[in-house]
Amino acid sequence: MSESRITHWIDGKPWGGVAERSGKVYDPATGRVAGQVDFATEAEVDQAVAAASAAWRGWRDVSLAARSNVLFGFRELLHRRKADLAAIVTAEHGKVLSDAAGEVQRALESVEYACGIPQLLKGDFSENASTRVDVYSLRQSLGVVGIISPFNFPAMVPLWMFPMAIACGNSFILKPSEKDPSAALRVADLMAEAGLPPGVLNVVNGDQVAVRRLLEHPDVAAVSFVGSTPVAQEVYRSGTNAGKRVQALGGAKNHMVVLPDADLDVAADSAVSAGYGSAGERCMAVSVVVAVGDIGDELVGKIAERTRGLRVGPGDQSTSDMGPLITAAHRDKVASYVPSARQQGATVVLDGAAEPIGPDGAHFLGASLLDDVTPEMDAYRDEIFGPVLSVVRVPTFADAMRLVNSSPWGNGAAVFTSDGAAARRFEMEVQAGMVGVNVPIPVPVAYHSFGGWKGSLFGDHHIYGSDSVHFYTRGKIVTSRWVAPGRGLDLAFPSNAGTNS
Ligand code: NAD
Repeated sequence: MSESRITHWIDGKPWGGVAERSGKVYDPATGRVAGQVDFATEAEVDQAVAAASAAWRGWRDVSLAARSNVLFGFRELLHRRKADLAAIVTAEHGKVLSDAAGEVQRALESVEYACGIPQLLKGDFSENASTRVDVYSLRQSLGVVGIISPFNFPAMVPLWMFPMAIACGNSFILKPSEKDPSAALRVADLMAEAGLPPGVLNVVNGDQVAVRRLLEHPDVAAVSFVGSTPVAQEVYRSGTNAGKRVQALGGAKNHMVVLPDADLDVAADSAVSAGYGSAGERCMAVSVVVAVGDIGDELVGKIAERTRGLRVGPGDQSTSDMGPLITAAHRDKVASYVPSARQQGATVVLDGAAEPIGPDGAHFLGASLLDDVTPEMDAYRDEIFGPVLSVVRVPTFADAMRLVNSSPWGNGAAVFTSDGAAARRFEMEVQAGMVGVNVPIPVPVAYHSFGGWKGSLFGDHHIYGSDSVHFYTRGKIVTSRWVAPGRGLDLAFPSNAGTNS
């Protein structure tokens, strides 16, 4: 297979320059290099920002009807090319095709939400707030927005953000993960086909050089970031220091609490699906199962039985349940948590590294299951981001709540139970932004916003849904009098108290 060159998309076309630096993109199912991706310099980022700035001046004045028309067109193209885009995701990320198709489907739902922008941007109007004085609110676009996305959802995460950014009248620069950049470029192509004017959407490939430049560039008004917690925190800090509006979503360690009255077969199915789906490379993956009371042995037995049956193989084969990990280095790091957990006192029920899988150099790793994990162990403390599921046993529901709430992260949390009162207590008291009741991966639908608490989100706005309207616009209130004659000089503070003020 020949290596493809993957470059930027600036001002409605592929960038024509010669890159000073580049990175490798792998086929994780073979470990072979599949492409070389250009890494932007500061000057190339500036070129994209200049194109986006120029395009914004026209795009912000485009009617809502015309903006939503472009989005409707894009929605149709995306719908028709779903399989195409899923195949690109699988080729570079490695996840199985059904999972990639699910990713594209969720992305599509965000686009559908953005198609409703005329309704979403409606302001409020107060007639005669004072006599013949009307007051109304507007939400106006910010300008150029920087969007920085992680490797694990190369199609969905950018599409959580940019359809609403452009629907609200902004232009933007997307910096996808350098590990799997092609899905973003395919999407850019589809947006152009849907009629988006050149320069409104730009894709700049690269690493932290490009991210830093976006964070300091005076013409970038806001940044949406999704990635790991240390980078999210730093992006938030430097972006806000530079006076930008920033939302930075970070990593996670999601707990699934199983109470003794839960249906243990349903709980085991959920733990395995949510723990090992996408090889654990999801920010909403369940990485800790908390077994409450005396169900530990039975629950671990059921999880182990199901996990043993998982078929690991190339993402593009329908016989595979779980694909490879993104890079060889990541696979090795994930695998290292099993011996470290054993050494720190955990029971290793299944070791995914016991048997090599696939050709030499491929990034496969089997599923690991750790029991008797405690909060001091590395396997519990770190976001492993791979197919390693830990089980922590606790005596009571109160212990489970304490454990979940002492986590430095607060993305998702789930409870499995048949007791409504216990479920309600969990919903009310758990410190996480997205909560599942008998639902292991509670990713909100497109018309509710997505976001965690604590170290899983820096900033005030969640992503997509109604929060995104607020994030990608700023408010303005107009107080207007057209018909009343002037009242002459009056230096008192204007008030509405009188009947004819
Ligand atoms: P990452 O933080 O390594 O990279 C994310 C983006 O930031 C990439 O575009 C990358 O090029 C860039 N980047 C990396 N290091 C940087 C640095 N030092 N300075 C500036 N930019 C930098 O994350 P990843 O490995 O691509 O993705 C996995 C992580 O993302 C996990 O921690 C996962 O939980 C998290 N994630 C969170 C959510 C969420 O919604 N909270 C969703 C998906 C993924």
